Amino acid sequence: MTKPAATRTVALLLTPALVAAALPTGTTGHDGERPAPAAAPATATVPARAGSEGFTAGSAGIGDSYFPNAGNGGYDVAHYAIKLRYMPQGGRISGVTTITATATQNLARFNLDFAGNRVRSVKVNGAAASFTRQGQELTITPRDGIRKGARFTVDVAYAGSPRRNQAPGLGRTGWIPTGDGAATLSQPAGSATWFPLNDHPSDKATYAFTITVPRGLTVVANGEFQGSANLGATSTFTWRSTKPMAGYLALVAIGRFRTRDGRTPGGVRNYTAIDRANRSSTARFQDITAKVTDWGARLFGPFPFDSTGGVIDDVPVGYALETQNRPVYPGGATTTLIVHELAHQWFGDSVSISRWQDIWLNEGFATYAEWLWNEQHGGRKAEERFAEEYAHPRDFAGWKVPTGRPGRKNLFATFPVYVRGAMTLHMLRKTVGDDTFFRIVRAWTSDHAHGNATTADFRKLAERVSGRDLDRLFEQWLSTRGKPSLH
Ligand SMILES: [Zn+2]
Repeated sequence: MTKPAATRTVALLLTPALVAAALPTGTTGHDGERPAPAAAPATATVPARAGSEGFTAGSAGIGDSYFPNAGNGGYDVAHYAIKLRYMPQGGRISGVTTITATATQNLARFNLDFAGNRVRSVKVNGAAASFTRQGQELTITPRDGIRKGARFTVDVAYAGSPRRNQAPGLGRTGWIPTGDGAATLSQPAGSATWFPLNDHPSDKATYAFTITVPRGLTVVANGEFQGSANLGATSTFTWRSTKPMAGYLALVAIGRFRTRDGRTPGGVRNYTAIDRANRSSTARFQDITAKVTDWGARLFGPFPFDSTGGVIDDVPVGYALETQNRPVYPGGATTTLIVHELAHQWFGDSVSISRWQDIWLNEGFATYAEWLWNEQHGGRKAEERFAEEYAHPRDFAGWKVPTGRPGRKNLFATFPVYVRGAMTLHMLRKTVGDDTFFRIVRAWTSDHAHGNATTADFRKLAERVSGRDLDRLFEQWLSTRGKPSLH
């Protein structure tokens, strides 16, 4: 995610009140996520139908200390098939999401994250299942327990106008109406406004989107375009993402678009779309996206997905988001913004965090990619950027938040997470030298491609590749409050 310059300035000042205003997920006004202690104990044994002894409820949270209700326990999702019909009148949606998952315990019941809308029916393995709703928790009790290791399907049919999911100071997240349709921007917890899911980056899955819209509108989503068909007054667009994806990166953009489909000089398929009401040049957008994709592939390792791209849309928010394969840029995209969001394709989208606390692994790398791009394209050297940031005095509030554990309310705080994250990587580069640094980066993107990893994994990898003890460096830059020493 990248916030606009104005928000960056606010976050740089980092007074508590301003930080609170810039939060994506405050404790007020954010429907998707509340710090409520509502999780059902995972160990509660459910009283039993005959033969269901030892079957228990999956937990209502996946165990992320920053978002206790995010995700759910007891199963692992392999695939989401999202079929939605979008009706411009009132911005309503209706459809069915089919989830294919594997039980990781004997399940008497389990939860999905789903906020708003009206659930019409739930089926498990094709049979009607009972369900209850509380906040964002949709609790499903199948007729029979699901045995550990068993593959099962869940169909959730629903309809409604996805509710506003406001993030104070940042704008809306989730399903966001636009002038000619809608777009989804869901970091960290907005996807539950428009489809039921296990909403945590540690449970990645493949996706298929079948989206029906009024004839004349276009649908852009993650992955590869499979085709479209007209029926009466509607058109149905099909997209498929065969590479695993974290739920918050799911993209559906509906509107009137100018689209381009081509290849980068390096051979990566490149699909871009620009809102017809927007004046950005399709040729320029396509070209910069291609250049940055190929540049990243040379520096960070092969581009992790089957296609790259981007969407410039009239989304009324003040941030861009690295939705998988094709980031969304509200209103327009500078080269720096494209560098940041495409860098996330390696750092955040392919290699995903296992817990939100490690968000610096996404934002530090994406910010450092901006520094590297500038350094390699006639701009300022990364060392100059580093020096400028390091010049902040010892009592600068930004130093007080440790990069490796910023706390939920500082999850997207610009200086502690983005800038100091990039500075951490620059210090690593200076310590081990350029060759070793880029070997570490490429080992990171290949060892954990399409998976999840933690800060501890990164530290271990850096020490293994460099053959050096880097504890002191990482402790100072990631874990310590206050301005780190350069020695
Ligand atoms: Zn970002």
